[in-house]
Amino acid sequence: MSILIFYVMSFNRGWMCRSCGLATFRRRANRTLLGGWWGVAALGIPVVLLIDRIRLRKVLRLAPPQPTPGVAAELPAPLDPGQPVLLRPGAIVAGAVLALILLIVALGVWAADAPVE
Ligand SMILES: [Zn+2]
Repeated sequence: MSILIFYVMSFNRGWMCRSCGLATFRRRANRTLLGGWWGVAALGIPVVLLIDRIRLRKVLRLAPPQPTPGVAAELPAPLDPGQPVLLRPGAIVAGAVLALILLIVALGVWAADAPVE
């Protein structure tokens, strides 16, 4: 998430089941897409999201979570992964930002091609 020229990068390290890992990825990706577009750090968003998505492959290879007899879990139940990232509000914000960038580029190209009077 970036705020003007400042930005915050945080990491989740630890043991997670498939559901909790997927839920964490989706929640964090949505938060990045919602608020990460301010400042120069926005240039790194596609790279960060791509790296996170590559790391998610490891989580998705896990079997669905099963209770282990005799082991007390930290959470009463696995986290709900919820909706895919593209169906969350962050995807709408990202789409609007990309549309705005394309519009600015198109206007720039159009202005450069316009005949000078
Ligand atoms: Zn879990």
